[in-house]
Amino acid sequence: MSSFEPEQNVGLARLTTIGTGGPARWFARPRTSAELQAALHWAEERQVAVEVIGLGSNVLVHDDGVEALVLRLEGELAAVEIVGSTLSAGGGATNAVCLHRARDADLGGFEFASAIPGTVGGGTRMNAGAYGRDWSDVLIDATVVAADGSRTVGVDGLGLSYRHSNLRPGEVVAHARFALESRPAGEVKAHVAELLAQRKATQPTNRRTFGSVFKNPAHELGAGRMLDDCGLKGYVIGGARISPVHANFIENAGGASSADAIALMAEARSRVHERFGVVLEHEVRFLGPLELPVL
Ligand SMILES: Cc1cc2nc3c(=O)[nH]c(=O)nc-3n(C[C@H](O)[C@H](O)[C@H](O)COP(=O)(O)OP(=O)(O)OC[C@H]3O[C@@H](n4cnc5c(N)ncnc54)[C@H](O)[C@@H]3O)c2cc1C
Repeated sequence: MSSFEPEQNVGLARLTTIGTGGPARWFARPRTSAELQAALHWAEERQVAVEVIGLGSNVLVHDDGVEALVLRLEGELAAVEIVGSTLSAGGGATNAVCLHRARDADLGGFEFASAIPGTVGGGTRMNAGAYGRDWSDVLIDATVVAADGSRTVGVDGLGLSYRHSNLRPGEVVAHARFALESRPAGEVKAHVAELLAQRKATQPTNRRTFGSVFKNPAHELGAGRMLDDCGLKGYVIGGARISPVHANFIENAGGASSADAIALMAEARSRVHERFGVVLEHEVRFLGPLELPVL
């Protein structure tokens, strides 16, 4: 049907913010809906799993790589348009570009995403959020494409809740629309500056990390506080280190592997379980056959 031919054995470490992990067995950068469809059909015909990577800011890739077709959306699938007070964006559009376009159009409501270094698709998959707001507060709908067709779904259809959506492997967020509100560009800019300053004061913003390691559990203490109470700040395994600034971040302190990060996560989880009786759930998404030991 098409001449789609993916690249092979493409390194993924440089496409992640933590900078670890091996190659994708197959890799492609679809730029249009037609190219995306062709990639999905190619994978379906060969029974190959499909994974999507946005800015790689919440993923940990297995050191031996990923036996899948990994897609990164670009071109039309990363474009941003403002229509009235609606921001309409491809799944590969970065939050930063969305925010700038909204600000330039005197639209606010997306400022909370200023410190989230991801894409529209990654944010939808994760229901990303900060400062008391998340994707579900602004998303109108998302167009989700899979090998068997596409559907446009709203917040309920996506099942968005705390860092969760019901999107399954192989389902690609190709496009999303957000409802914003009229706000002067100067106000948006000032709000963003305030949020970024808050972030800088509490998190390791100048290090290679994948954001929060664990979700906050249903407990009076957050994951970061629990990990801190277990004495984990600054704890090192191989080239990976628990941030001395915020214990729910793992830094690539130089030459880290994904195995180092997993070993740190396992140790951290085990200590929290021992001390608080809580089983922490990881927020970071695994690409490839990574897993944490059962507690
Ligand atoms: C310094 C730092 C700070 C962070 N702060 C926050 C924060 O405050 N709040 C927060 O929620 N997160 C935060 N994160 C985590 C991360 O930025 C978010 O989860 C972000 O939404 C991930 O987007 P991404 O495009 O990088 O997705 P990736 O990390 O590339 O992927 C994450 C998941 O989404 C899937 N995915 C990506 N694109 C698509 C698509 N188009 N269709 C379907 N699935 C897709 C991937 O397969 C994977 O399962 C932070 C990360 C860092 C490094």
